[in-house]
Amino acid sequence: MKISIIGAGYVGLISGACFAKLGHDVVLIDIDADKLATIAKKEDLPIHEEGLQELLEEVHIDTSTDYGKTVDSDVIFVCVGTTADENGNIFSEHLINAANDIAGVLKKQQKYCVVAVKSTVGPGMTESLVIPLLEKSGRKAGKDFGICMSPEFLQEGRGIYHFMNPSRIIIGEYDGRSGDVLERLHQSLKAPVMRASLRTAEMIKLASNAFLATKISFINEIGNICKKLGIDTYEVARGMGLDERIGNKFLNAGIGFGGSCLPKDLRILISGARETGYQPELLREVSNLNENQALKPVELLKKHIKLQGATVGILGLAFKPGTDDIRDSRAIKVAEALLAEGAMVKVYDPLAVANFIKTCPQVLPASKEEVLDSDAVIILTEWEEFMELDYRGKIVIDGRRIEKAREARIYEGVCW
Ligand code: NAD
Repeated sequence: MKISIIGAGYVGLISGACFAKLGHDVVLIDIDADKLATIAKKEDLPIHEEGLQELLEEVHIDTSTDYGKTVDSDVIFVCVGTTADENGNIFSEHLINAANDIAGVLKKQQKYCVVAVKSTVGPGMTESLVIPLLEKSGRKAGKDFGICMSPEFLQEGRGIYHFMNPSRIIIGEYDGRSGDVLERLHQSLKAPVMRASLRTAEMIKLASNAFLATKISFINEIGNICKKLGIDTYEVARGMGLDERIGNKFLNAGIGFGGSCLPKDLRILISGARETGYQPELLREVSNLNENQALKPVELLKKHIKLQGATVGILGLAFKPGTDDIRDSRAIKVAEALLAEGAMVKVYDPLAVANFIKTCPQVLPASKEEVLDSDAVIILTEWEEFMELDYRGKIVIDGRRIEKAREARIYEGVCW
């Protein structure tokens, strides 16, 4: 099939590379010509993902800033960024621009084409926002073109693996013909396919991430209690996880969740619920707990040193290992809190320093050794290389349970 992907970010670039590997003709459209140039050259890629460089060298993908290149696609995936403010109000300007430009394409389209929204949207937005914009083309959804909502469950760091081995394919469809095209496109992936309405698919995405977020905030709350009682949270989680109804995933207590999805999807869901007049108390607490949890390392450190004038080293800036993504990373909150207390902050991360200093320019990039030489060290991402450092003689606050760090002179885990 001819597949066009609008937005060459984490989702778009990984999806494009994987669809090309599956044998489709892929064109990647973005408004950022510099980003596309690095992708076309296969050098200095805009994102870091395991296996992406190798995959791009193996496949062929066209890149362009010109939406005209998408004419006569079988499927156009919309993968532009959507963000949400603290109240869950979605910033949908990119989505609106993309839908307007796709409407221009639909006018010229000779064959049936399905527009599939992969960008995260609030409940009902594919119908209330995207379809009316596409229909400005004079073409009718469900008749002249198809429309689907194809929620993305990509797990950054191992995005390519998860794209090729998905847990499920959720196809939100406006009509059966649209869903048939998307189901055919994914059939070689051998994953359970569930077809649903557009709104249901949107909600499956939001609810899935809200559930994972809830599990993390839950175990963090248990962890906070266990720490006060002198009980090892990780032992408790191990015992809980042996119950297959609970499972052992997402039970690592620590400083909470970040990234471009969990915090945002939770906020979008909370705001969507409130618009209906329902107050989602549980989800609100999950979010509040997460925000407070991020500041635990700073609270704990204050017990051991005076932050004013101290040098504090941060090990780990990415929101999780395996990625250079720092969106909503807990490290941002921790660094800002340390700076506000008058500390100097040195940072190290194997991939994410360049992204981090764009957001938080007051910190000082440093080597691992320089970070370890600080007055105290805070560990915020569970990179494997942190499991081999020499922490002897140091003061360490551990947000991610790095066992080796226990050899420090003073060691505190956030929930243990
Ligand atoms: P991103 O910011 O990495 O990439 C978005 C890309 O869209 C950027 O390259 C940007 O230049 C481009 N863009 C913006 N406006 C455009 C336009 N009008 N036309 C063409 N390109 C345009 O974002 P991402 O992480 O890839 O996420 C994309 C969407 O997928 C978001 O809605 C996000 O919530 C959702 N999502 C992301 C993940 C993830 O793990 N990153 C997982 C599931 C869902």
